[in-house]
Amino acid sequence: MADIIDGKAFAAGLREKIASQVATIKQQSGITPGLAVVLVGEDPASQVYVRNKGKQTVEVGMNSIEHKLDVSTPQDELLQLIDKLNNDSSVHGILVQLPLPSHIDEEAVINSIHFDKDVDGFHLTNVGRLSIGSEGIVPCTPLGSIMMLRDKLGDLSGLNAVVVGRSNIVGKPMASLLLQENCTVTIAHSRTKDLPQVCSEADIVIAAVGRPEMIKQDWIKPGATVIDVGINRLEAEGGKTRLVGDVDFEGASKVAGAITPVPGGVGPMTIACLLHNTMQQCCRLNGLDVPQV
Ligand code: NDP
Repeated sequence: MADIIDGKAFAAGLREKIASQVATIKQQSGITPGLAVVLVGEDPASQVYVRNKGKQTVEVGMNSIEHKLDVSTPQDELLQLIDKLNNDSSVHGILVQLPLPSHIDEEAVINSIHFDKDVDGFHLTNVGRLSIGSEGIVPCTPLGSIMMLRDKLGDLSGLNAVVVGRSNIVGKPMASLLLQENCTVTIAHSRTKDLPQVCSEADIVIAAVGRPEMIKQDWIKPGATVIDVGINRLEAEGGKTRLVGDVDFEGASKVAGAITPVPGGVGPMTIACLLHNTMQQCCRLNGLDVPQV
């Protein structure tokens, strides 16, 4: 049976280290790192995410600034708010919760955030920096995944990694990070031929597809490490719902060497990495030493 990679515990440990760094920053400079989160509309899932982000921000000792805007807010008004936050020296990270209502151009909004406050790492400048391997802000979910991989496997050099999914927020940045770790990287997607065969050659499988339990036991090479990014909500008995990943956990855990569960795997790492990015950007923006955690 595979080792279970406990993302919940890993994230709790990371938040503890961040809290300690935040305390040092405050003590040495008098500056409190601040994260501004902007939510447009009332999407229930987004509201839960924003609430959790705010709570965890405060728990590590940082300032949480929340802006909740009406669903009909014009794009110009949102851009004006971002401009204000860009110029506010008490704000070191800005996150606009996605998805945005359809009348708003998501790309324009993301790229209006100053790239040094873009703690989601989605701004074109940060995308470019990651792609050429220079210092920038790395998107939270891939960052959390690579931290867990490094912790579990140590040196990733020379390993075959297959990333299933090529989105801009998960698949592509994940592939860039694995390449930086000297893995041999394959990016698979909906047009990939013989996906089971491609996956079966991987020492590391990253599943970021959004299809419940798609990746099966016999796709996994014995001993491989499986990181399941997928979050899919399925109907369960009694009108309830349950969360599953993109990997058939029960089957895959019989052959994999290590695997992340859903829930409790990659998910908790995403917010912890958001706090990590905000803490580091606070230091960069204020000319302080940047703690590596
Ligand atoms: P997207 O829908 O943006 O991308 C899905 C990718 O999967 C696409 O590249 C698509 O290929 C590929 N794909 C779809 N169907 C297949 C198939 N049958 N075979 C092979 N590839 C396929 O999703 P995201 O990247 O945003 O998210 C992926 C998953 O991760 C979702 O479940 C999401 O909820 C979850 N997620 C979890 C986070 C966390 O904090 N843990 C954060 C972000 C996302 P193509 O490009 O060809 O269409």
